[in-house]
Amino acid sequence: MSGSEQSPESDGPAVGPDVDDGLPAAEAFALLGNETRIDILQALWRAPDHPVAFSALRKRVGMRDSAQFNYHLSKLTDHFVRSTDDGYEFQYAGEKVVRAILAGTFTDRVSLEFPVAGECFECGAALEGRYSDERLGVRCSACDTTYGRYAFPPGGLRDRSDAEVAAAFDQRVRHLHCLAADGVCPECGGRVATEITPDDDDRLDLDVRVDHTCQQCQHTISSPVGLSLLDDATVVAFHAEHGVDLTSTEHWTLDWCVTDQTTAYDPDRDRVSVGITLGGETLTVTLDGDLRVVDTERRCEGADGESAATV
Ligand SMILES: [Zn+2]
Ligand SMILES: [Zn+2]
Repeated sequence: MSGSEQSPESDGPAVGPDVDDGLPAAEAFALLGNETRIDILQALWRAPDHPVAFSALRKRVGMRDSAQFNYHLSKLTDHFVRSTDDGYEFQYAGEKVVRAILAGTFTDRVSLEFPVAGECFECGAALEGRYSDERLGVRCSACDTTYGRYAFPPGGLRDRSDAEVAAAFDQRVRHLHCLAADGVCPECGGRVATEITPDDDDRLDLDVRVDHTCQQCQHTISSPVGLSLLDDATVVAFHAEHGVDLTSTEHWTLDWCVTDQTTAYDPDRDRVSVGITLGGETLTVTLDGDLRVVDTERRCEGADGESAATV
């Protein structure tokens, strides 16, 4: 398996978000358990300009009883919306609630299967995309091999063809990893720690994997080492020289990216190298334990065409 996300419930220490001020989460969610309040948040979202005056917001919700409207609005105030001199506007949590509704996280239930580009690196059979439990993955249609499975909001399936869903999934996985590798949690914005670790618990069925773990919410993204090289300048240039545009190539069609077949791990030196072969030439990229590229080397098949570069 080539990549995954873990929530703290399923893996890692049983530590919740450290909310040290404001309303306890359960009480905050309880405030949302009312259709009028959800209507207010959605009306605020649809308003063309912000802040929105009390009377304008009440009209948008279509509620005649001003006192009742005021009651529900006051329940949201200081938690999901804030009152200003010019009217009401979103607080961060209120906007997140509406986005979650738009993404379908709370409302849609779908599952589907569709063909995607690429062949299984284990058995050569065609690959397929599979959506279930609000997670999208790419897997072999014949054997059990999975090439990554990640949370994907149901809203991302809407108005997209199968090919467009596959392309969106490719981009989403790249960006999740990019953000995490840059030290920012894609879920909560917290600080992310990155480490190369033996895949001893077979989370990905590899010898070695990369874990990005949020220090705040414990959200973890795990992947093969190669996946972190997708936006490496040397790797991108190497592909361009061989006529491959790496940005538009689905990452699961790249063996070095989703398997560890060309990955060598030296735990004593805390070094991992990834070999990428194109047109008879191999680029070997060596990374340290913090996932920094410490060396690159290009080698042509045959004797003389050898060149090396160190960064
Ligand atoms: Zn297979
Ligand atoms: Zn986080």
